Amino acid sequence: MTSLEQLDELYREIILDHYKKPRNRAVPPAANVKVEGTNPLCGDDVTLELRVDGGFIRDIGLQGKGCSISLSSGSMMTEAVKGKTTAEAAALLEAFKELMRGHEPASELGDLETLAGVRKFPVRVKCALLAWTTLEQGLKGHKPAG
Ligand code: ZN
Repeated sequence: MTSLEQLDELYREIILDHYKKPRNRAVPPAANVKVEGTNPLCGDDVTLELRVDGGFIRDIGLQGKGCSISLSSGSMMTEAVKGKTTAEAAALLEAFKELMRGHEPASELGDLETLAGVRKFPVRVKCALLAWTTLEQGLKGHKPAG
């Protein structure tokens, strides 16, 4: 096995782990933002709920059905932005979009970088971006404090 194949295998495992055991799946108590997102091309369908308070994403929950790429990207997204300020979340969102466009992201993306392989399949890029574009909708109207 070449090192590249091993890397792909590791990436697949991380993506499948998030798909089988999605993080932050419960509806947050006292959520004050609710947004739905769909990707009709694939049939992915997510509902994102947030508790945004004082410019911070205090709590987050994502429910949905869809393919492994959309749900694992969503699970990773919730982990990446929970507890962050809305400005930090917006920066991560931009960095992830850059990654999906094939550019070097400006921020460290951690596990999310495992999704870079999706770029080879343009149809799946929409799957990977779904939770993020839904988050973008949810953050509208919640401008950073100060
Ligand atoms: Zn999909």
